[in-house]
Order: sequence, then C-alpha cells, then structure tokens
Amino acid sequence: MSLATVYNTLDLFSSAGLILRIPSKSGSFRYCGGQRSHMHFQFQGSDQMMDVPADLGEKIMESIPASILSEIEDRMGVRIDSVDVQLKGARAESAPSTDS
Ligand SMILES: [Zn+2]
Repeated sequence: MSLATVYNTLDLFSSAGLILRIPSKSGSFRYCGGQRSHMHFQFQGSDQMMDVPADLGEKIMESIPASILSEIEDRMGVRIDSVDVQLKGARAESAPSTDS
C-alpha cells in the first residue's frame, strides 16, 4: 500500500468523523483515533500531545456560555458549527510520568 493511499484513507476516515485530524506545529497533520470529539493537551515546543480525559473535556465544553457563542455569531455574521479547545503547556515538575 502506498503512503498516498494511507493518507487518502485517513482523510476519508476524518471526513466521516471516525478519526480526528489535527494540524500540528510543523504544518503537517496528526491523526487521533478517538471516535468522539475530545480535547488535547499540546506540549509547547514539540508535536507531542495527550488526550484530555473525556469527562473533563466535556465539562469545559459545557461551561462555554451559549449566549457568548450566539453573540459572536450575531456580531461576526457567522454560524458556529463546532468549538475546539486545545490546552497547551508543559509537564508539571511534580507530575508522575504518564505517557499516553
Ligand atoms: Zn485525541
């Protein structure tokens, strides 16, 4: 199988919502197999990222005020279809090493 076929298949899965396509710092794309929309933690200065636990990611998304989203729509004349939140930072010095 050629690499082009692999990437075409990844794009197909991404369009179908089976996997997530995530732009990376280097301008390429990363793919994440999580079926549901979820949040990522991006390590600053590298392409390494971790999935945020789904329950915590959902809490953040639920806490985004719908009134502000609709005000953005009104003032900008757009329709918001989805919201992505990406967390960025570094590993805490005291944290245990938990590679995803
Ligand atoms: Zn992910």
